[in-house]
Amino acid sequence: MAIQYHCRHCGVQMGKLDNMSLHSEKLGLHKLTDQERLDMVSYDTSGDIHIKAICEDCHESLERNPDYYQNDYLIH
Ligand SMILES: [Zn+2]
Repeated sequence: MAIQYHCRHCGVQMGKLDNMSLHSEKLGLHKLTDQERLDMVSYDTSGDIHIKAICEDCHESLERNPDYYQNDYLIH
């Protein structure tokens, strides 16, 4: 089982954790509401956990263009 982080906007893989001992508390998932968790976290058939986050590039773009928060995808 691995935990993979992907940018929710451009889809780039931001990181991968293979540490089985990681708990959702350490990832900050416990701070999310159930709806946010459903929205951000998904599991694939191999048991990997996929977390939608936001990469630095998109974060920067969004800070400059807050309107882009409306869109799921950015065109770079
Ligand atoms: Zn991105």
